Amino acid sequence: MEDCVFCKIIKGEIPSDKVYEDEDILAFNDINPATPIHVLIIPKKHIENLMEFKPEDYKIMEKILAAVQKVAKKVGVEEKGFRLIANCGPDSGQEVMHVHFHLLAGEKMGPKIVH
Ligand code: AMP
Ligand code: ZN
Repeated sequence: MEDCVFCKIIKGEIPSDKVYEDEDILAFNDINPATPIHVLIIPKKHIENLMEFKPEDYKIMEKILAAVQKVAKKVGVEEKGFRLIANCGPDSGQEVMHVHFHLLAGEKMGPKIVH
């Protein structure tokens, strides 16, 4: 996708602060962190959001999950914990139309997800 900012990050056309990378997945620090630790975990395949996953893409979710665990260990929050959020569609406020998972951590978060 030509004008997708995350595809540009994957291609190296826009710099990013990489946390984890493998063949299918990239994780990098959010440019505008909402919590002390805020990592974005994305598939390298351009999929707009969760509703656009086709059955043939479902295996990507396994890879996302494996990457979430690796990132959590890498940033040292596997014990203290973290919150994982994926915005999908207009009501969620999704801004970047390339599916991504926000791993938020590094502080005690309130019980409410929306704030
Ligand atoms: P969302 O609102 O779920 O679409 O979240 C998009 C996220 O991408 C926001 O938290 C932004 O701060 C983040 N973001 C946008 N551009 C960049 C970039 N070039 N590098 C890192 N994070 C970015
Ligand atoms: Zn993209």
